[in-house]
Amino acid sequence: MLGQMMQQPLLISSLLQHAERHHGAQAVVSRRVEGDVHRYTYRDLASRSRRLAKALAALGVQPGERVGTVAWNGYRHLELYYAVSGSGTVLHTLNPRLHADQVAWIAEHAQDRVLCFDKTFLPLVASVASRLPTVRHFVLMADKAHMPADEPIPGLLCYEDLIDGPGDDHFDWPRLDEDTASSLCYTSGTTGHPKGVLYSHRSTVLHTLASSLPDALNLSARDTVLPVVPMFHVNAWGLPYSACMVGAKLVFPGPALDGKSLHDLFEAEGVTLAAGVPTVWQGLLAHVSGNGLTFSTMRRTIIGGSACPPAMMNTFEDTYGVQVIHAWGMTELSPIGTVGVLKAHQQQLPLPEQRALQAKQGRSVFGVDMKIVDEDGQELPWDGQASGELLVRGHWVLAQYHQGEQSPLVDGWFPTGDVATIDADGFMNITDRAKDVIKSGGEWIGSIDIENIAMAHPGVAMAACIAAKHPKWDERPLLVVVPRANAEVSREALLGFFDGKIAKWWTPDDVVFVDAIPLGATGKMLKHRLREQFEHHLLAKA
Ligand code: ADP
Repeated sequence: MLGQMMQQPLLISSLLQHAERHHGAQAVVSRRVEGDVHRYTYRDLASRSRRLAKALAALGVQPGERVGTVAWNGYRHLELYYAVSGSGTVLHTLNPRLHADQVAWIAEHAQDRVLCFDKTFLPLVASVASRLPTVRHFVLMADKAHMPADEPIPGLLCYEDLIDGPGDDHFDWPRLDEDTASSLCYTSGTTGHPKGVLYSHRSTVLHTLASSLPDALNLSARDTVLPVVPMFHVNAWGLPYSACMVGAKLVFPGPALDGKSLHDLFEAEGVTLAAGVPTVWQGLLAHVSGNGLTFSTMRRTIIGGSACPPAMMNTFEDTYGVQVIHAWGMTELSPIGTVGVLKAHQQQLPLPEQRALQAKQGRSVFGVDMKIVDEDGQELPWDGQASGELLVRGHWVLAQYHQGEQSPLVDGWFPTGDVATIDADGFMNITDRAKDVIKSGGEWIGSIDIENIAMAHPGVAMAACIAAKHPKWDERPLLVVVPRANAEVSREALLGFFDGKIAKWWTPDDVVFVDAIPLGATGKMLKHRLREQFEHHLLAKA
């Protein structure tokens, strides 16, 4: 017997329609590449998205074809999110921080038909344009006044001309099958060749619903949300969708991601919730503490993408009264899998124990299940001790890479490549990426724990712990440190700092000081580069 309720497909266009009808006057504020701050409403967003959808159809973009973007977080990018996906074509967000060859490779692999980009990225796109035979139209996301005088790319189109092209904004969003592909994002390649993850309308809307729940990102119409996490990386953790769903005010930082620009925008627009990777928050905190500032409206910050150092968490919470929501996810998970929000009985624990729990990656959001397994694939207990590879499955977890030959799934589960423990309350804690694990005398040492301790030392700006070859133990931990400006920190002081905080044999064998640690296109430390550079360091000393 079937239920007798309405059959409405879960479509991205419905998020926009909701925002327009129920939160039409809510603001969308964007710092632009042009240098000024632009503001309009969800009503304007909806109207311009419909015009854009008409314009793209007029350009001949067919259902299922890919429209690429190379753009900062801003209102034009948001219009593309809705216009492209809403009309049954596929939004392909490209990461401009990748090398030009990689950008070209990805655009070619995705077979993008149209490429829309911010003026910042004109030199990048112009340098690869001749290598992109599938792209029929290049669109500069600017108005006429900001179009280049010469034509750096033949036939370059002006975005605002496209928006103005259709006579009116009348457009009916098609009633698509909810399993239709909506957007495409390539993994950043920290773990090998970039691979395309093709989201659907259904997976996106379900992710939007679940990620907004109180024990997830806890979003509401009373929030002012600022995604620092780029819209070119896993859809800015879904915030462009969830803000529309709940009717939150949206604030986009554009290209200005330094501490001062961000803090100015937070204060000017009354931001209550911001989201980003730890490396971005470092710059923000340095600016705020260096200038004796505070956060007058910010209440919560979502930190993910790599482990949030407990020292950063403590600063946000204790010094500035900003709650840290630690989240874990992957491109393959749309991205949210777990969120570190405490349960009632955990809130009764002494503060240090609460913080230790918050430093874990958190518990599963409904819609994503997880398990940890040993090397034979046997499930391990949830005792907070046993660690093994983390596998997940759920409504917004990838089943197959775009044009991938083999499914990556193992018995219906997606292997994440992360190594983790899970405790009795379901709190998952990533101890390492499988490829970063340090194997000393046959035992695993988790590099993230070591980095977290090092980061709590006042003289340390950034720390990476890597496996260095060792004549006796095979591998031993080596700490690579960027010292804080004007701080005195010695090797001995740092190694002594681990006393009593960690098992003795986990203490790194040595420390090397460097000016900078290489970061990947999504702000993560490129530990494989450090390994290439320093893996023989201990052998050389032995
Ligand atoms: P890539 O594999 O290309 O770097 P993602 O950006 O999707 O792709 O990164 C996903 C990975 O980032 C996870 O598998 C995990 O290793 C790491 N990660 C994400 N969030 C966290 C977190 N809160 N703590 C520790 N690691 C994290």
